[in-house]
Amino acid sequence: LSWEKHVKHSCHTKRDGGLVVLVTGAAGFVGTHVSLALKKRGDGVLGLDNFNNYYDPSLKRSRQGLLERHGILVIEGDINDTLLLKKLFDLISFTHVMHLAAQAGVRYALENPGSYIHSNIAGLVAVFEACKSANPQPSIVWASSSSVYGLNTKVPFTEDDRTDQPASLYAATKKAGEEIAHTYNHIYGLSITGLRFFTVYGPWGRPDMAYYSFTKSILQGKPITIYQGANEVDLARDFTFIDDIVKGCLAALDTAEKSTGSGGKKHRPASLRVYNLGNTSPVSVPTLVDILEELLKVKAVRHVVKMPRNGDVPFTHANVTLAKTELGYNPTTDLQSGLKKFVKWYRNYHNEHEKM
Ligand code: NAD
Repeated sequence: LSWEKHVKHSCHTKRDGGLVVLVTGAAGFVGTHVSLALKKRGDGVLGLDNFNNYYDPSLKRSRQGLLERHGILVIEGDINDTLLLKKLFDLISFTHVMHLAAQAGVRYALENPGSYIHSNIAGLVAVFEACKSANPQPSIVWASSSSVYGLNTKVPFTEDDRTDQPASLYAATKKAGEEIAHTYNHIYGLSITGLRFFTVYGPWGRPDMAYYSFTKSILQGKPITIYQGANEVDLARDFTFIDDIVKGCLAALDTAEKSTGSGGKKHRPASLRVYNLGNTSPVSVPTLVDILEELLKVKAVRHVVKMPRNGDVPFTHANVTLAKTELGYNPTTDLQSGLKKFVKWYRNYHNEHEKM
């Protein structure tokens, strides 16, 4: 295969004790930023992504180009391809797997439920199986989601709050993932850390998310649709800037204990952790639009729908005390400053792209 000779180069570490990380979903929004940050500090990184068309694949290709310019190889393949995974684990002794590949989005599940089962359930199991069989066994850090809190109304959310009321198939598959993680930790001694991300935004972000699609519509003078929750209450999200999330991901990789391979059977089982990575200050959707109007210097045409939408939860709000204590996680970017960086990137990227 043509990529084999490039794999070792991509996985080369430039610092003592450097990590060697397989990043799944590397051409995705979070995957791109995490891969770059790891490479920047001298860790070895290999990316894997299937470049699916859930949103514009050309954006994923642009991110891949950026990664390649930084010496990071992204292999095109599916996490369910067990032969490919075996081949990669045979070639490279990964110390860690940063598992970010998933089917995201809550509405898409109404039409495409199978995609969530394929990537978030079967795919997660395929990744855990590959880690279980690898020698040495890597430690795993993977993306769960704030959506596991579902319809829970006790805020802010702490890690031991109830997660038995998912409001979407997406949330249900992330919750299932947490339970599957428990099994693989228990039986096979894999060290697994789940990170519950709260609405991540920033440069190179996802076009399917509200802050991105609102920016696009506002600049094009098109109306934006703002959905409310039950009783005409505005939805609110704990928007978290990508740089803060990246710091949390790197800290989780650094503090992850080694997989022990011994499961629950021996004296010291491997660790199983779950952390909230949020911003701790929810902002309502209309306020998000206010900030975008100010940054874009264009008034939005708002169309308010006074009805809850399938899959939406009314609000999210993270308590991050656990991540603060154990990972040193400390989000520092407010929505205004984070969106300013997003808007700057958006203008550059779309100016370049629309010229082509
Ligand atoms: P993203 O869609 O940009 O990235 C996911 C990447 O995984 C995509 O590039 C996609 O092509 C790839 N992928 C999907 N299925 C695959 C498969 N079967 N095999 C190989 N590659 C596959 O999403 P993101 O925002 O970067 O999210 C990263 C992770 O964080 C996901 O697990 C997501 O569920 C989770 N998460 C994200 C947010 C957020 O606000 N962005 C919030 C909570 C959780």
